[in-house]
Amino acid sequence: MAFGLYIHIPYCQAKCPYCDFNSYAAERWPEADYVEALVCELDHYAQQAPWADAAITTVFFGGGTPSLFAPASIEKVLTAVFAHWRVDDSAPLEVTLEANPGTVTLEKLRALRATGVNRLSVGVQSFHAHHLCRLGRIHDATQAVAAVEQARQAGFANVGIDLIFALPEQTAAEWESDLTQACRLCPEHISAYNLTYEEGTPFASLRQRGVLRPLPEETEVAMFTGTQEILSAAGYVQYEISNYARSGYRCRHNLTYWRGGDYLGVGAGAHSYARPTTVDANAVCGRRWSNARAPYIYLQSVAQRRHARAHVEDLDARRARGEFVFLSLRCLDGFDAAEFRQRFGNDFPALFPHAADLCDGGLLECSGGRWQLTPRGVLLADSVFSSFL
Ligand code: SF4
Repeated sequence: MAFGLYIHIPYCQAKCPYCDFNSYAAERWPEADYVEALVCELDHYAQQAPWADAAITTVFFGGGTPSLFAPASIEKVLTAVFAHWRVDDSAPLEVTLEANPGTVTLEKLRALRATGVNRLSVGVQSFHAHHLCRLGRIHDATQAVAAVEQARQAGFANVGIDLIFALPEQTAAEWESDLTQACRLCPEHISAYNLTYEEGTPFASLRQRGVLRPLPEETEVAMFTGTQEILSAAGYVQYEISNYARSGYRCRHNLTYWRGGDYLGVGAGAHSYARPTTVDANAVCGRRWSNARAPYIYLQSVAQRRHARAHVEDLDARRARGEFVFLSLRCLDGFDAAEFRQRFGNDFPALFPHAADLCDGGLLECSGGRWQLTPRGVLLADSVFSSFL
């Protein structure tokens, strides 16, 4: 078995008001204790099935703001990872770290690169000062550009930029200029996320009170299709609804999630997923679990039990195949019909008869043995996905 490893660092310098990730603003953070807990959790899982004999394909430091941690801390975690697991030999190991431009310097990036991190995902979000300010970001556009340029100088050959569109009062011209500026920096990967007003965030309550007004739906759709046009003209291939890459630079870690692969998550609030080796109609077809979310509870749990599992969910066959379809369809090349049959013991249209209606409605198609969204289906992806759950 091969799996992706996710490592969550939950601390941020400030909490952005649109963000519902498991992240916490902190002036100081218990970095040494947290690293010790991560190493302890890794030691624990390295002795548990199904991870014990598995090989690792990708490592992803996400957050929060992993770039707040010292490179020496990242190195300690990676040393523990490589002490326990061999690297899957089907592709070079991808080791990603999410970086906030307000937290990096050339020196730090060089030291991070020396630890074995080989892919940097830079959270730029916008190049416009008023949008960065409203988003509560701790950096400006100049720092964002510098972070990408310094990543190159530090030796990163695989750099991604994250952007957000459909910001309140954002114009199409502003968004186009964000995309153009991002392309000018020549990253290998660009993520372009549509802003969502997540429940419980300050942005959601400002929206409810009428202080923030979402853009009209047709403007959001126009921005989305404009993104496809601009990035494709610049040589990026849209391989997932919000993700674009140059040839050979898709994020393999995220592809593991979208393709229903196994992944182990360590750190506060991290999620894991493991499949059983066989599937039958009534058996458990996958197990998902998540860690305690609050960092101090996570630290206590690991100190007491060597893990921090808080919620465990067993997926029956119906749920497992619905999730597989909905996640796989996020990728524009969808899923292989034969792989579906092998995983779930029957053909996709037999288990999801409404697939025929989606095809008739021009939302879904089977082409070259793969089930995938049509361009119209991509625009209406949320309603297609919900029909499988
Ligand atoms: S820096 Fe990232 S993880 Fe932290 S609060 Fe902002 S969006 Fe969330």
